[in-house]
Amino acid sequence: MLKLLVVLAGIALVCYASLWFVGGATTLTWERQPSVIGPSTPLTVRVSSSYGIARIRAFVEQGKVRCQVLDLSTGLGRMTFFKRKASTENATFTVQAASCPGLAGGAAKVAVDVKSADPRGRTDSIEGAVRVSLQPAAVHTGFEPRYVPHTGVTVVKYTVAGDWIDTGVHAGQYRFRAFPLNGGDLVPGSDAQLISFFTIPWDANPDDPVVVFVRAADGRELTASVRMVIERRTFRQRDIKLTTKFLSRAVGDILGGNDGSDLIANFKRINAQVRTANAARLTELSRDTANRVLWEGAFLQLPKSSVQGQYADSRNYLFEGEPVDKQVHLGIDLASTRNTPVPAANSGKVKLAERLGIYGNCVVIDHGLGLMTLYAHLSRIDVRPGADVAKGQTVGLSGMTGLAGGDHLHFGMLVDGVEANPAKLFERNWVAKNIAPVVPAAGLEKPLKGK
Ligand SMILES: [Zn+2]
Repeated sequence: MLKLLVVLAGIALVCYASLWFVGGATTLTWERQPSVIGPSTPLTVRVSSSYGIARIRAFVEQGKVRCQVLDLSTGLGRMTFFKRKASTENATFTVQAASCPGLAGGAAKVAVDVKSADPRGRTDSIEGAVRVSLQPAAVHTGFEPRYVPHTGVTVVKYTVAGDWIDTGVHAGQYRFRAFPLNGGDLVPGSDAQLISFFTIPWDANPDDPVVVFVRAADGRELTASVRMVIERRTFRQRDIKLTTKFLSRAVGDILGGNDGSDLIANFKRINAQVRTANAARLTELSRDTANRVLWEGAFLQLPKSSVQGQYADSRNYLFEGEPVDKQVHLGIDLASTRNTPVPAANSGKVKLAERLGIYGNCVVIDHGLGLMTLYAHLSRIDVRPGADVAKGQTVGLSGMTGLAGGDHLHFGMLVDGVEANPAKLFERNWVAKNIAPVVPAAGLEKPLKGK
């Protein structure tokens, strides 16, 4: 009898002990990493667990202040684990700063902890460093551009203050990032002077308002108009005659060989798929930019070159007299002698130096704050990714790799990943007048004389 009891007790113990292994870690992730606690700040944590959760709590901590902002019991207990299966849920709560006495502007921490609804009842947590900014968000423009050519590169200076988590410029459907005027990273919730390079691209309506914006922690957006006069542009129409010779070479070059199938179909495929993939690559590349201005003075145009193709030329491709495709040309084509050395238009850091679809041998240079230049169709590349380049330094030789009918340099300008017309940046007076008031380095060349 005693033996039986001992055995039963043993079995019970083993059962209980094995329950300990029922359960596991709860995974917590911020839906969006918190950065600022304003007067009212909604936060969301994604909670994934195997057996559901019993309790969730959130705190704001700052020095001696520890303020509980959420305490929720789900009604699930440690032994109800068998009722629940794996779940992923969002826990959303709002931090009301007014209900946290003693909370002041400055650094703080938000912490969320959850207790799992399983026999182990383990507690897991997540934290986020935040800045408390209890003043309402504010945004004011400082330097505004006067005359802005539609599709040109321009810059605005503005100030932000108070409770904000995001900021930048909106121009039509486009959005451009802003950076601290004196370099460094954006610190949401801080009072700062910012600048943003932007463009009103060819496909944006020049009548659409251009604004600087800040988004407060509660999601509300505040804007200030950028007052400027936009010089209208009419874009050219150009017919490009495709020849079999050009098509065989370009298609073979871009698709890595010519499979003998329909050249026109392959050409259209390049224009549709390869072009889109290349644009996506450039957008991705542009996210990582230096947080300070790397360039000085006006940009250099390829020496002794003539402009063969303009920005936003609308190109109709014809084959044996028949229209086969249409594209908008997002850069300028500069022609000089064959295999001419191509100088870096300004100082910066090489972001890309490789074959890139329609661009053939391609170099992209980062000039900081989202401004990048692109050099395409090169016959030779002379720089490596990551290298610092000086203004005028040779990055390669001109050529006709990729989608090029003859030896020329396709020169592009990216503003936060958006193609813009670089032409005005070649003009020293224009740069001195329109960019240098915000970016002093842009006017560092010899003093301007009269004119
Ligand atoms: Zn081109």
